[in-house]
Amino acid sequence: MPTIRVKFGGDKHVSHITFVGEYKAGVQPPTGYMDWHEWAKVQHKAGLRQTQCSECGLWKFPQELSDADFAGTNKAVCNKCAAKPEKPDAS
Ligand SMILES: [Zn+2]
Repeated sequence: MPTIRVKFGGDKHVSHITFVGEYKAGVQPPTGYMDWHEWAKVQHKAGLRQTQCSECGLWKFPQELSDADFAGTNKAVCNKCAAKPEKPDAS
């Protein structure tokens, strides 16, 4: 579960409240490492399975994969790789 820590109090006495939330299946991943694992658990429980990106080789859940122009090619490319500018033409 994601936690959001809110700092309050003066400079000398700092306390933190932790709010607990829940990730939903199919949402984009959080950036924090620990949060990511919680998020990934939710995706897996929901039946989502990771596919290896053919560009960077990382394993991605469906919502992290680009669905543009790869249908039928049996290749999965993640959003990050899909967003990269085209390689300059060598010709
Ligand atoms: Zn990739």
